[in-house]
Amino acid sequence: GFTMVAALAACGSAEKTGDDTPKVGEDVAGSLVGVTMPTRSSERWIADGDNVKAALEKLGYKVSLEYAEDKIPTQVEQIENQISQGARVLIVAAIDGTALTTQLEAAKEAGIKVISYDRLIRNTDAVDYYASFDNYKVGVQQATSLLVGLGLKKEDGSDGDAKGPFNIELFAGSPDDNNATFFYNGAMDTLKPYLDNKTLVVQSGETDFKTVATLQWKPETAQARMENVITKAYKGDTKVDGVLSPYDGMSIGILSALGSAGYKGDDIPVVTGQDAEEASVKSIIKGEQYATIYKDTRQLADVAVSMADKVLKGEEVTVNNTEDYDNGKKVVPSQLLEPVIVYKDNYKEVLVDSGYYKESDLS
Ligand code: BGC
Repeated sequence: GFTMVAALAACGSAEKTGDDTPKVGEDVAGSLVGVTMPTRSSERWIADGDNVKAALEKLGYKVSLEYAEDKIPTQVEQIENQISQGARVLIVAAIDGTALTTQLEAAKEAGIKVISYDRLIRNTDAVDYYASFDNYKVGVQQATSLLVGLGLKKEDGSDGDAKGPFNIELFAGSPDDNNATFFYNGAMDTLKPYLDNKTLVVQSGETDFKTVATLQWKPETAQARMENVITKAYKGDTKVDGVLSPYDGMSIGILSALGSAGYKGDDIPVVTGQDAEEASVKSIIKGEQYATIYKDTRQLADVAVSMADKVLKGEEVTVNNTEDYDNGKKVVPSQLLEPVIVYKDNYKEVLVDSGYYKESDLS
């Protein structure tokens, strides 16, 4: 069957012909693909790594899959190793989008193709393609779920019955991750009219991206900031009604700070999220976290793997965006997938019916 063919092909390509120039139609089976992921501390990256590896192996490629536990020098070293091991393509989910310039320029020199995975690699032209979701839209959806939770909007997009004013607090992701700005801009553009007419009030006054950013998306950092904000800005009867959180891990930290401050049951503020991680989906089912954004990592893995396969074979790569992702040196051709808002009332349809989770994973 397939494995046999792939194995034979792999043997074949190991015989060097003395000419290393990639050719269209060249037999590329058995080539090494280097995959680097940021951390195992969040489920999504584990699923991403597993899915990418499995799909590449299915096509007959060899895979080096590495995680750097959010340590930038470790990720740099992993990429250097993959280059010296002879990787022909690198699929990189960067920790710091600007920290890989030297290594990737070396890769480019050596004719290695680079695919930026989920997060845009910045400040280098040594990146060929970008596979991601519509990150601005993720932010729009996070803000929309906050508005729905507060009753200012309905799930169908029409206006809700609530009038406000509501007190909200804002969190953004890691400032070295290009996505964090896209999420925050999408969210803030959506919240702006409500902030302008004071339907929404940020009691802490902290709205600047730099002030609300959370280095490396750390849940404990978000938790500590939430605790500080409560102490500082929510005295007496002033209550938090909603929190814009960009990532499920942070949402759990934020909810824990709110819990310690006495927000229980129906008093728990509307808290958003991202990634549909198991703990957060369970929290949504229990009525704690309000919503999350589902990004099907299986689809993203397929897109990145298909890009890798096509660049190796010299075939044309499919993209659907050649405008929005300027990395400072070039506009990187991108294939962007669609994110989906998950609420308590649609998690079954979105997450279980799609086979992303089994109902038993969530109970
Ligand atoms: C990803 C998000 C994730 C965040 C933290 C971002 O780059 O796009 O899905 O929540 O990193 O890991």
